[in-house]
Amino acid sequence: MRGSTCVSCGGRVNTPKREGVVRARASWLSRPVSYPAIYRLLHDLPACASCIEALPFIGEQFCRQCGRDMRAEPYSSEGRCRDCVREVDEPLKENRSLLRYEQDGKSLLSLFKYRGDERLAGYYGTLLAIAAFRFYTPSRFACITTVPLHARRLQERGFNQVDLLAAYLGSATGIPVRPLLTRIKETEKLSKQGGRASRQESMREAFAWNEGAVLPGFARGRSDSRGADHRNLTSILAAGIHFLFGNWFSLRSSISHTSHEAKSGERDSQANPVPKLDNRNRAAHANTAPNSNSGDRAAYANFNPNPNSHDRATQPNTAPPPNNRIPLPATPPKILLIDDIYTTGSTLRSCARTLRAHLGTVCEIYSLTIYR
Ligand SMILES: [Zn+2]
Ligand SMILES: [Zn+2]
Repeated sequence: MRGSTCVSCGGRVNTPKREGVVRARASWLSRPVSYPAIYRLLHDLPACASCIEALPFIGEQFCRQCGRDMRAEPYSSEGRCRDCVREVDEPLKENRSLLRYEQDGKSLLSLFKYRGDERLAGYYGTLLAIAAFRFYTPSRFACITTVPLHARRLQERGFNQVDLLAAYLGSATGIPVRPLLTRIKETEKLSKQGGRASRQESMREAFAWNEGAVLPGFARGRSDSRGADHRNLTSILAAGIHFLFGNWFSLRSSISHTSHEAKSGERDSQANPVPKLDNRNRAAHANTAPNSNSGDRAAYANFNPNPNSHDRATQPNTAPPPNNRIPLPATPPKILLIDDIYTTGSTLRSCARTLRAHLGTVCEIYSLTIYR
């Protein structure tokens, strides 16, 4: 685990009690197939036994659409909460979140979000990875993408905390991280906005497709697109961390890990806090390989497999077919959209609409947040 003091209470992390707590929590959170990954992530979490025990994990009863904890909810229709029942034209396939947003979480998240804290980036990135293994099969996703900040907000803050989380999540799961969106409309902070309806309205058309972004395995791309994306991600990390501490070198190892992963195209990363993954990644990615014999051709018109993609090893059939028709993926691409918190879902929904408008409505957008 990173560091010897708990990010939450400042207490000692290494105590005899901790191993038992980690095992019990990992067992409760996982299926047999995800236990090794979740155990290792919890083991690496820079938190003490008491703080791990006190984490308000969302239990088994949650809204199947938005991931809300439903234990205290009096209303449910077919497993959905009252808000989700009302929602028409839902662009998100589903949202899942790890923790209920309670007072301790509010204080800690604001430390990370507004004042910056490098250890909290590791803490929250690890929690997000636990959520990914708990609720999803990470290898099924074509890529991870984030909710972008508006350029002016990014300049004020110096970093986008969600990009730091994405870097951790990408390392822990082996899913490539791609900045697919840009923010074209400056919106008030959510805390200053009114109710659900006004949040939805303020988020309308707030995002646009990031020109030049490449969806791994599917999108039209340049031969150097992978390097460009990697440089983009690395520069985001560097800017964020430099802003926080003005000390690049203390964190050089974590950056160079990301660099190594991107250069090599390896999905099985070796560095902490990353659990080793098995070949499920490769097998599952092979399921998204283009297949000229299936699917709705018009719906896939935006996809054009890039023979220079790093996924080429898993896509034996990347050459254009003899008749020059566009090869089609066998299954719709799944994108994992991440944010730190799902409040009303209006931001994530707006991002999902933009992604589907560009990629076609067959693409499936799943979202994942730490808090709900
Ligand atoms: Zn603690
Ligand atoms: Zn719901």
